[in-house]
Amino acid sequence: MNKKLFDFIEKSPTPFHAVANVCESLEEKGYLELCESGKWDLEKGKGYYVTRNGSSVIAFRIPEGDFSGFMMTASHCDSPCFKIKENAELAEKYYVRLSTEKYGGMLCSTWLDRPLAVAGRITVRTEKGISVRLVDTKKPCTVIPNVAIHMNRNANDNMSYNPAVDMLPLFAEGEGKGSFRKLIAETAGCEEKDILTTDLVVYNPQRGTEWNGFISAPRLDDLQCAFGALEAFITAKKAENLPVYCLFDNEEVGSQTKQGAASTFLAAVIERISEGLGLSSGEHYAKVANSFLLSCDNAHAVHPNHPEYQDRNHAVYMNKGIVIKYNANQRYTSDAVSAAIFGLVCEEAGVPFQRYANRADMPGGSTLGNIANTQVSLNTVDIGLPQLAMHSSYETAGAKDTEYYVKALACFYGKTLSMENDGEYRFI
Ligand code: ZN
Repeated sequence: MNKKLFDFIEKSPTPFHAVANVCESLEEKGYLELCESGKWDLEKGKGYYVTRNGSSVIAFRIPEGDFSGFMMTASHCDSPCFKIKENAELAEKYYVRLSTEKYGGMLCSTWLDRPLAVAGRITVRTEKGISVRLVDTKKPCTVIPNVAIHMNRNANDNMSYNPAVDMLPLFAEGEGKGSFRKLIAETAGCEEKDILTTDLVVYNPQRGTEWNGFISAPRLDDLQCAFGALEAFITAKKAENLPVYCLFDNEEVGSQTKQGAASTFLAAVIERISEGLGLSSGEHYAKVANSFLLSCDNAHAVHPNHPEYQDRNHAVYMNKGIVIKYNANQRYTSDAVSAAIFGLVCEEAGVPFQRYANRADMPGGSTLGNIANTQVSLNTVDIGLPQLAMHSSYETAGAKDTEYYVKALACFYGKTLSMENDGEYRFI
């Protein structure tokens, strides 16, 4: 399972690539592509997927018979990186650097002194408009160099990194001026003059590795959850529900984009499913009330050198099971009802789970569930896999956890939920 995860991560340097990989896996299993701008003719027993901006995707299966509600998972495919600005080259006499800005909140030091590659999408001119191409240099082509300790004696004390000064990647020698766009055109297999615009980032191409019970890889947050949920979605047994798999872009920058979890994407898709199946608006909302969302995003395992950052009573460890996350201010959606339902899923799947809450004096991060709930409001639980060094360019997690997660989520997709009274559910 971890080897498959590393393959997925390696092929997914950007959300555009992650979505393309997910679509490829779905195609292989017979899922049919829908376009948001087209008409949807949905047939019972068939599976479909639809993308938005090429960087978010929602897949679903229409059951043969009637269904109780939507059983959904959501994870995110973006991760902190350096976005390359449109005028990419900062060319001087001896050096060409890339003009970049931060995307998301990364641990800057982990990006220094390691070979980095470039990937993303570009638009190219066609006869009557534009088309999109994905680009991935795969091979390293840039490095963000540290300043030697001899020139910065404070490098090991409270270092701060100015993104406009310290974090600019070195791309080429002075003579290499103009070669960045050439490299991109070559990689994309197009003429340089046909490139109109770019969405490119600098990323870490190092492959994942398993060691002594742990795994280390780039982008585990949140591709570990994205990959595992897809495995579960594809392999789950059929039930009287309508399974939905969501993968969203832009979580790292707050999700408030046309394709993020705060967008209309999910609401529009499930409305169109109900409409396509001939359900009235009342029937649609009854289905939503019988629905459930797993908001899946990695969690903070106890740090071996800094156990003091955890709430002592809610400390979670790698390889000790799936994490249910709680927050009084509802940055995490888990409550007594939704956590109870997910706990039952884990119990049935034979998978351990643990409970996490931030220390009361540490605000922690936020995630997808509460944001998605502003568009489609339903029972939701925030879960994730415990990991170290979140937002490092190379993160660490438990070697057993991906498999636990796939098992639990496959079990979840195979369940049917029905609300008996507000807050009381039958779960078959
Ligand atoms: Zn995340």
